[in-house]
Amino acid sequence: MKFQIECNTGDISKMCLICQENFQTDEARLIVCNDQGEGYGDICHQCIAKGGNWVQFQLQKFSQKLLA
Ligand SMILES: [Zn+2]
Repeated sequence: MKFQIECNTGDISKMCLICQENFQTDEARLIVCNDQGEGYGDICHQCIAKGGNWVQFQLQKFSQKLLA
């Protein structure tokens, strides 16, 4: 599980992987992807603002759900 920052070309409405809220993406998007580079989804700014450790913890829970 890794992060990828991508530049955005326009306003896109996305659903946050962690809090499931819809949000508008800015110029920079934080995308979660696996080691093969396949994207799982975006993370919203509120969740990013909670800090890297918190995000990492939520994503651990998320990946456990994926494997279950
Ligand atoms: Zn969120």
